[in-house]
Amino acid sequence: MQYADTQRQNKRTIAFVPTMGFLHKGHLALMEAGREHVDDLVVSIFVNPAQFGPNEDLATYPRALEKDLDLCRDMGASAVFTPEVSEIYPQGFQTYVELEKLPLHLCGLSRPVFFKGVATVVSKLFNIVKPHVAVFGQKDFQQLTLIKQMVKDLNFDIDIIGVPIVREEDGLAMSSRNKYLSGDQRSNALVLHRALLRSQEMISKGITDPGEILIQARKILESCPDIKIDYVSICDPLTLDEVNCINGSVLMAIAVMLGKTRLIDNNVMEFNR
Ligand code: AMP
Repeated sequence: MQYADTQRQNKRTIAFVPTMGFLHKGHLALMEAGREHVDDLVVSIFVNPAQFGPNEDLATYPRALEKDLDLCRDMGASAVFTPEVSEIYPQGFQTYVELEKLPLHLCGLSRPVFFKGVATVVSKLFNIVKPHVAVFGQKDFQQLTLIKQMVKDLNFDIDIIGVPIVREEDGLAMSSRNKYLSGDQRSNALVLHRALLRSQEMISKGITDPGEILIQARKILESCPDIKIDYVSICDPLTLDEVNCINGSVLMAIAVMLGKTRLIDNNVMEFNR
């Protein structure tokens, strides 16, 4: 990207926010956080085919490019990168980036190609945009963890910043996929946040057995018709290994299918004996 070379020659620092578009306030929070650290903000909008499985929603993923470009402009982005699929994956493309352990947890189990697609596209975007700082949401906690590991393992000279989950007023984590939800599903989707809050409450009362907390969380999720739990996990926020006892910081992560829509949410919780 010539833009990146020119900015770097002019000693300007670049923050990068990769997205798949259909932007909402969660994405905007990432842009705001990025802008704080540098001179220039670059956003990418690219629905990455490599991270979708064959039965997933690549074809129907919501898109609104013109509106997204306006939002990026309003947020002060100096460039928006919107490549075609053939630009990122030209004919003959054959090099992928894959992490060994982190994808063997949580979303990686039911989405086997997902993190290979994410790590590959993010590496490519890093090489194209040449940022000093890149910003990711804690909404996709596993993705953030994996990117931090990849940046360390592959010596990318980029600071990774994580931004807390932005929620709707009623607690639903913002997501481009919320657009798929019918009115009833939209209200039912609140069970994810409710399950996380209840778990947080149990931990703050001193309950440290993850099993006990997970039973309650599952009950709350299963109170919703039309829901299929993919996973509910209490794990170490660095390795993503499940924990047997809560002591210190843990990640509670949830993924469900609500009808045909996949929803994820999480919370980092703390209990110190
Ligand atoms: P996506 O366009 O869904 O691939 O997301 C692009 C970036 O925005 C990722 O780093 C996500 O983690 C982040 N993001 C998406 N939704 C939220 C949210 N509700 N709060 C914070 N970050 C988010």
